[in-house]
Amino acid sequence: MLMTNIQSIIALKIDVDTFVGTRDGVPQLLEIFDRFGIKATFYFSLGPDNSGKAIRRIFRKGFLKKMLRTRAPSMYGVRTMLYGTLLPAPFIGKQLKDLILNVKKAGHEVGIHCWDHVKWHDYLSRFQKETTSRELGQASSMFKEIFGTLSRTTAAPGWTVTADSLEIQDSMELDYCSDTRGTGPFFPIMNNRRFKTLQIPSTWPTMDELLGENGITLETINDQYLMLLKPGLNVHTIHAELEGNALRDTFVELLERLSERKVRFVTLADAAAEFGRNAPTSELYMGYTEGRAMPVALQMVDS
Ligand SMILES: [Zn+2]
Repeated sequence: MLMTNIQSIIALKIDVDTFVGTRDGVPQLLEIFDRFGIKATFYFSLGPDNSGKAIRRIFRKGFLKKMLRTRAPSMYGVRTMLYGTLLPAPFIGKQLKDLILNVKKAGHEVGIHCWDHVKWHDYLSRFQKETTSRELGQASSMFKEIFGTLSRTTAAPGWTVTADSLEIQDSMELDYCSDTRGTGPFFPIMNNRRFKTLQIPSTWPTMDELLGENGITLETINDQYLMLLKPGLNVHTIHAELEGNALRDTFVELLERLSERKVRFVTLADAAAEFGRNAPTSELYMGYTEGRAMPVALQMVDS
C-alpha cells in the first residue's frame, strides 16, 4: 500500500480542566481556530475546580519532577493551585455557562470531560460504582442545563478509566468516547469484558509530556510533532490551560506548519463517523507512558 498517497487527518481534542482555563484559555483557542478555519472537539469540566487538591500528588513518584519540568505553577497560575484548599473551589459549569455555550455556537463539538477533575483523576480506581455514576451523572445534568441536549461523548480526566466507568458510559448510549491512548479507533475489552462504546484514542503525546524529555524544548517540539504525523487519523489532545495560554505561540506555529502540509482538520465526531464503523476490538489497560506521572488507559497494540 502506498501510504504517501493517503492524506493526514488531525482531530484536535481540547481538555478543559480548570476554571481559569475555561474563562481565559477557551476564548483564546476559539479565536485561533476561527483564524485557521478549524472545527475541534472541546471537553469540559463542569463541576468544582479543586485543582489545589492535586498537591496530594506530590507524594507520587515523578510528580514533583514533572511539576518542576513543566513549570506548572507559572503555567497554571497561583490561584488555580490553591482552589479547593486555601481558596474555595469555583463551580465551572454554573459560573461560566455562557462562555461554555459560546463554544458550541462557534460550531465546535462539545462533550463531557468530568464533574470534578481532580477527584476523578486521583480516586477513580477506588470509587464505588455509585460514585463513578454520580460524577458522570452530575456532569451530564450540567451539560444538559447548558446546552439543552445530552452529551454524545465523554473523555476521562487524565485518560483514567475503570471497567465501571466504561460500563456506565455504555449505559449513557454515547456515540463514542475518547478516554484512551493508542493508535486508532477501537472497541475496548477491559478485565475480560467487552464494551460497546467506540474509543477514539489520542495518538500523540501532549506538549507537557514531550517538553523536557529527550532534550525537547519549545523551539524543537513542533519538529517532533511533524515527525509523528502519519497518514490517516491523528488525534492530538491539547489543554485550554496550556495551548490557550502560556504555550499559545508554539501551538499556533504548529497549526501553521500543519496547514502548510495540507492536513485535514476534523472533529472527533467526524472521525468516529469516518473510522468507527470497521474498528477492531483491542484490550485496554492502565499503564505508564513517557512524561506522565500517573497511569493512563492504553490500547494494547499487537507487536
Ligand atoms: Zn483533563
